[in-house]
Amino acid sequence: MQALQSCRAFCIKPVTYNEIVAADPLCLPGQPSVDTLFDELVAKAREYRPKDDLAPLERAYAFASAHHKHQRRKSGELYLTHPLHVGLILADMKMDMVSLETGLLHDVVEDTVATLDEVREGFGAEVAACVDGVTKLSKLDFFSAEERQAESYRKMLLAMVSDIRVMIVKLADRLHNMRTLAALPAENRDRIARETIEIYAPIAHRLGMGKVRGELEDLAFRYLDPMAYQEISKSIESQRGESEQFLKQIRQTVDGELRREGIPARVDGRVKRAYSVYLKLKRQKISIEQVYDLLAIRIITDSVKNCYAALGVIHNQWHPIPGRIKDFIAIPRPNLYQSLHTSVMGPEGRHFEVQIRTEEMHRIAEEGIAAHWKYKEGRKGIEDDKRVAWLRHLVEWQQDMSDPSEFMSTLKVDLYPEEVYTFTPLGKVIVLPRDATPIDFAYAIHSDVGHTCIGAKVNGRMVPLKYTLKNGDSVEILTQQGHLPSKDWLAVVKTARARNRISHVIKASEREKAIEIGRKYLEKEARRFGVQLSKITRAELEAVAASYGFGRVEDLYAGLGYGKFSARQVLQKSAPGQFPEEPETAAEPAVVEEPRTPETRRKDGEAAITVRGMDDLMVYRAGCCNPIRGEAIVGYVTRGKGISVHSKACPNVLNLMYDVERKIDVEWERTAKESFPVRLIVRTDDRPGLLHQLTSVLSSENANIRSLEAKSEADDSSDGASVEMRVDVNDKKQLEKLVSAMRRISGVRDVERVMS
Ligand code: MN
Repeated sequence: MQALQSCRAFCIKPVTYNEIVAADPLCLPGQPSVDTLFDELVAKAREYRPKDDLAPLERAYAFASAHHKHQRRKSGELYLTHPLHVGLILADMKMDMVSLETGLLHDVVEDTVATLDEVREGFGAEVAACVDGVTKLSKLDFFSAEERQAESYRKMLLAMVSDIRVMIVKLADRLHNMRTLAALPAENRDRIARETIEIYAPIAHRLGMGKVRGELEDLAFRYLDPMAYQEISKSIESQRGESEQFLKQIRQTVDGELRREGIPARVDGRVKRAYSVYLKLKRQKISIEQVYDLLAIRIITDSVKNCYAALGVIHNQWHPIPGRIKDFIAIPRPNLYQSLHTSVMGPEGRHFEVQIRTEEMHRIAEEGIAAHWKYKEGRKGIEDDKRVAWLRHLVEWQQDMSDPSEFMSTLKVDLYPEEVYTFTPLGKVIVLPRDATPIDFAYAIHSDVGHTCIGAKVNGRMVPLKYTLKNGDSVEILTQQGHLPSKDWLAVVKTARARNRISHVIKASEREKAIEIGRKYLEKEARRFGVQLSKITRAELEAVAASYGFGRVEDLYAGLGYGKFSARQVLQKSAPGQFPEEPETAAEPAVVEEPRTPETRRKDGEAAITVRGMDDLMVYRAGCCNPIRGEAIVGYVTRGKGISVHSKACPNVLNLMYDVERKIDVEWERTAKESFPVRLIVRTDDRPGLLHQLTSVLSSENANIRSLEAKSEADDSSDGASVEMRVDVNDKKQLEKLVSAMRRISGVRDVERVMS
């Protein structure tokens, strides 16, 4: 079988264009034959790769032509023209052999009977992996429900990281499809154009491939907003003659001035791209007549020094427009783009833009990451590339993000980096995405600076941490040792780095709390059911943990703390012999208190509260208001501590409940008989016998006294005393009766219930 497959891969002769035309009269006349296209590809490859063996390329062509033989594109052209054009685009980028072969073969697995194994057999593992990557990218759906959309992005990122050539071939594929999009039905055109402008063009931009990005954007724009495209193109076109005249005049002046200064350079003039004009119109809310710098010239010289010298020449000749000078040579953009930009007031008051760069910078600006393959060999050179490092970080971060919407928003910021340039107090540049905050800045410096950040000064002035940083801001971060990031920060930060580090710390501390709560909960329940925890070995607990799918006992505690299951279930599993018979009133809700100091630890309010519709949730009465039976209560889902139940009158409730999603309905359990400890302070006259009267009221009301302490409060203004007591009551009604009985005792001035 294997032999047969490899035979198919190796022995098939290319089917020539003429053979196909002979077999199929539908073939379009006037198109270059597929063989001509392939000859062109070979000639291009030969030119920049004189020493490479081109035999694999011939074989890839043979394989592709055999498999796509009878297929046609929607335009009527032979299908084979598509992979050939993709190969030509890749050859224009001067990509390596693996990329060219992948370009020719990229659709065989998707669209023909050929299998990946055959590709691997015939062209090796690298080509097969690339073909596989491109095939998988084609199947992703970027416009589905958010969750699946996020999944598509994740897969795309993984494909890019495993071999960036997958994405480069995909971009070439998309570019040719966009060039020939007119042949497709309208609804397909729309979807492909949208995907191009929202996903592939930003990726090309992120990878620094300016030329591909520009063409993709203009092509997509044409289909997405045909009216605007028409209007802008017409307007550019109507001014073309005049524009060209103007540019010619400018170029002559610049040429002459540069020569006079001895700066070697070539000067190009150009009219800006339709889509970039469109963005400008939209951003500045102006009409096309008001876009004054439609025109631009580019000066390409030999050294950085001469770039600045050329800038001087330009500014000497024409007045620069304030605020438009940008030095991306000193501060490259995140995709490594470098250039000097300025806009000047030209002859007749017409503005135009000037870009100045070296040859090397120009190459990087046009080709980005693809420029690697020209001089460096393959993947080794690319490993340390910052643009790939960005991808790799993104992949690491996305593994930590479970929430698809969080992942999407982070990715969008990272894919559309409209960056701001900010400075440390020592003048180091920190490049951040637009709308970044001082917290993002702090995390960009160091995680520890981020975690301990408590305030920020921008340009010497204190600002709130949610402040939006602007270009040129000088930022000083104030830190405090031991400070931890707040959850609120997640709502304001813009960078993946900050978001990732913050949630990491928060998750870790919540987990720690959950483990602590889980352990206490288990101890408490063990006491309640008379199970001796000390007799349960670590190994036995580990076995229980394993039965829940956890590797460690800590995970078991954490599960308990998060309220995923009850301590009772765990005790039953770990000490089946010791565990008492299941009482009739099963499904007893778990109740746990917040950790208390030993002297105040008590057994109270057990099983008193249930959460509607849910068993086994960890419920505890909030320490701040200690609600008792009969009081109106409300539950609040804490992070990692189960459900805290507050009295509706509790002042904390107002603050907590603005987070409405975390509010939960709770009710007092009807059947349970239990008591609640209440702390009371009774202020009285300081007279003998009063204490006795108080205690007898308590006993006649059947309230159990836990502790009682009387203090004289005599001072200059008063001869009062106060009695502080802890008593157990069954419910609110009993407490009210008790308090009014105490108030009736003569000499009692006030009875106050102390919350907490
Ligand atoms: Mn294709």
